[in-house]
Amino acid sequence: MYIQCSHKELSILKKIAQAATGLQVPCYLIGGFVRDSVIGRNTKDIDIVCIGDGIALAHAVAELFTPKPMVNYFKNFGTAQIKILDDEIEFVGARKESYVYESRKPQVEAGTLKDDQDRRDFTMNALAISLNQEDFGELLDPFNGIEDIKQKVIKTPLPPAQTFIDDPLRMMRAIRFAAQLNFTIEEKTFDAIGENKERIKIVSGERIADELNKILLCKKPSMGFDLLYKSGLLKIIFPQMVALAGAEYIDGKGHKDNFYHTLQVVDNIAEHTDDLWLRWAAVLHDIAKPATKKFEEGHGWTFHGHEVLGGRMVPKIFAQLKLPQNEKMRFVRKLVELHLRPISLTKENITDSAIRRLLFDAGDDFDSLMALCNADITSKNKQKVKRYLENFEMVRQRCAEVEASDQVRNWQPPITGELIMETFNLPPGRVVGDLKNAIREAILEGDIPNEYEAAFNFMVQKATDLGLFYKA
Ligand code: ATP
Repeated sequence: MYIQCSHKELSILKKIAQAATGLQVPCYLIGGFVRDSVIGRNTKDIDIVCIGDGIALAHAVAELFTPKPMVNYFKNFGTAQIKILDDEIEFVGARKESYVYESRKPQVEAGTLKDDQDRRDFTMNALAISLNQEDFGELLDPFNGIEDIKQKVIKTPLPPAQTFIDDPLRMMRAIRFAAQLNFTIEEKTFDAIGENKERIKIVSGERIADELNKILLCKKPSMGFDLLYKSGLLKIIFPQMVALAGAEYIDGKGHKDNFYHTLQVVDNIAEHTDDLWLRWAAVLHDIAKPATKKFEEGHGWTFHGHEVLGGRMVPKIFAQLKLPQNEKMRFVRKLVELHLRPISLTKENITDSAIRRLLFDAGDDFDSLMALCNADITSKNKQKVKRYLENFEMVRQRCAEVEASDQVRNWQPPITGELIMETFNLPPGRVVGDLKNAIREAILEGDIPNEYEAAFNFMVQKATDLGLFYKA
């Protein structure tokens, strides 16, 4: 066998070979499984291509296992899947594809193994291994994919422009694989991405989002984003991020390039967490800097309110990128809005009430927020970095102390809206909200303790001021 695979996988492959011999259809292991085994990377799905009916082969393979696995098949696509323990095995008949310009969905007809390898996106993804009796385990590598893996280079099997014009999603895949595997994209392949970038417009937003998320989940996401930027794809799929690029100078004073700063923050957070949404918060934390940028005499460059405007931009950007409009989006929005707060608390004479407010506003996401703030320190000046980190440690300590005594992190004020309505015989409305806010503010300010009785008395006092009638 050319590739390394586990004992369990080898026994599955032998059974597939046995079923294929029984049906007299040649069959091959192909695609990501072969690539990843050669690289020594964890593999997921096993892709099998046969010269014949893939669905029939899947059924024949399923017969050889006890208990017999279920065969999921899609007649229209001629594909079938079975799951054996943790392994997903996908079967398909070898195919030849031809494309029309307007669509990335090809017309498909039965083909040879070589036709099937021609339609693959990259040389490393076109590797096949024979599962046939006469040459079981032999590698079929018509495009020198093994050499490309050794050289860590991404190339297309056919001329790159054709590969990308046929299915422009492959441009995103090239960049995603480069970032995941730390490979370079061959120069003429990369040039072809730049030349055909506009074709990305025929790819669905969901597919693009899927690739963007995979890039963001890489060990060093900056590599993928930088390639997206340099190829021109980013400008089309996510122009707000490109607007961060570059530095303007007035009177010899410049500001930092916020695109590369953002990439650094994303890499920093990636060292700390695999949470996709915390990584998205890093991507978006400064997204409103271009829109809020001003040059103020005597001050230099300012970006006042970029955290507030940035927070407001999050739902729109999530919708545009086909990311979810749910609590994940609200988490990202909250972090963007709060990302300057801990920094503002590193100054002297910070009151307990300011600390309480941060704890209350961040709630369960306090640790994520502090992680984002740490990642946001990208200065090259070691002394400065050390000072910032020490300041954050101080904020963390103050927060821990205040939280220990006041428990405001996951706090619900002791007086509910229902109780206010009941006590003053009020219908739901603005007055109820005003009273509730006043109680919350008084507790956060430290004017009254965080206790039911104090809050109740405060509510009665406040209501009396408003002319409300209270019957004890
Ligand atoms: P990953 O699982 O990380 O996405 P993979 O290479 O296994 O990597 P799949 O999407 O599972 O990717 O595809 C399996 C194989 O199908 C690929 O290795 C490649 O040969 C082929 N393939 C997938 N998508 C395309 C495409 N858009 N164009 C051409 N070939 C493709």
